[in-house]
Amino acid sequence: MFSEQKRFIAGAVCPKCAAMDKVVAYSKADKDYRECVACGFIDELLVGPSAPAPDTRINKSERRDAAVAEPVKFVGFGEEK
Ligand SMILES: [Zn+2]
Repeated sequence: MFSEQKRFIAGAVCPKCAAMDKVVAYSKADKDYRECVACGFIDELLVGPSAPAPDTRINKSERRDAAVAEPVKFVGFGEEK
């Protein structure tokens, strides 16, 4: 999340006009936007549930542990159904 105040993103390149250091980022109504001050390009930044990168490793190890620790339980559960 960004603040409502527009801030330049250092090194960012506008995807429309390719101007560098002309893209500002800001937050509005709980959404993040980037805007090019050179050409007026505005893009909504999709963050949150669609970016689960930091949790991937944790989820993987948790699923792995469950599969190793409870193979019998899973078989029994399936037979009951
Ligand atoms: Zn631009």
